[in-house]
This record gives sequence, structure tokens and C-alpha cells, in this order.
Amino acid sequence: MAILPIITAPDPRLKIRSEPVEQFDDELRAFMDDMLATMYDAPGVGLSAIQVGVAKRAMVVDCAEDGAAAEPLYLVNPEIVESSEDLRSYEEGCLSLPEQYAEVERPAVIRVRYRDQFGAEQELQAEGLLSTCIQHEMDHFDGVLFVDHISALKRNMILRRLKKAKKLQATG
Ligand SMILES: [Zn+2]
Repeated sequence: MAILPIITAPDPRLKIRSEPVEQFDDELRAFMDDMLATMYDAPGVGLSAIQVGVAKRAMVVDCAEDGAAAEPLYLVNPEIVESSEDLRSYEEGCLSLPEQYAEVERPAVIRVRYRDQFGAEQELQAEGLLSTCIQHEMDHFDGVLFVDHISALKRNMILRRLKKAKKLQATG
């Protein structure tokens, strides 16, 4: 398994709308295993394909508690078929926006229909961190970042910081 370079904001690729996956083959499975290794290495609890430069609707997540056994999930072409009216606020971060965090409100419980890495149709109900995480990763499929859910003032502050960090990195 390979560790893939993660794209960080600002980067136009993070605004791309990803296409559905059509081929469930060894290439997809190897790529998603690399995504998972990349996510664990970062470390993070979720990663969408576009964050490593591939505009496909595929994500990996693992929201197991610290110290518990790993619970990797491979979600391909996921769709939310039900979401609760109850909202949950969580301080989100993103591997593409390193060291930036903000409170984001999203439906607390969702039902998701998706295909696994073998193409089999699956459904799951998610709550807590897993619910937040799947919704966050699905946003990446449509070029949406967690900062797009907060006030323009806060968003611009975060984006300015990221731009600055990138410039520093480039020069030094
Ligand atoms: Zn993210």
C-alpha cells in the first residue's frame, strides 16, 4: 500500500465535482486501500478520493474510538436516503485544511445507501462522529469544504491562514 500526497487548500481541484465510480475492479480496490493507508498515516477519520487528486465518488472512513479495533468503511457512490431533523454540532477539521477547525451543524442521524469496494449495494445508519464524517466526505464529492458551512468572516480567516502557510512552505 502506498501513502498518497494529500491536496491542501487553496487548490482548484478541491472545487471539482466528482464523477460516480463505474468499474469495481482491482484497480479501484488497490486505490481505496492506498486511500485508507493515507488516511491512517495522516492521521484522519475520513478521506475522499478528490483529496488525493482523483475526481471519483469514493471515500474511506474509520470513526472507531481511540484504542478500539479499526472499523474501516469503503463507501462508493453514497447517497443519503434519510436524514434526521435533529442537528448535531461538531468541531470539524479536514486533512485538506491542516490545523483549521470550526463548529459545523449537520443532521445528527443519516441513512446512507452506497456500494462497497466490490460493487455490492449496502445501507447503513450513522450517528455521532460517523454521521458527521460521512456528510463531510460527501461534501468533497461536490467541491464543498467544511468552511463553506460557516460564516464568510470565519471562512476567509481560515483560508487566509492556509494561503499564508502554503506560501511559507513554498519559500522555506
Ligand atoms: Zn475534508
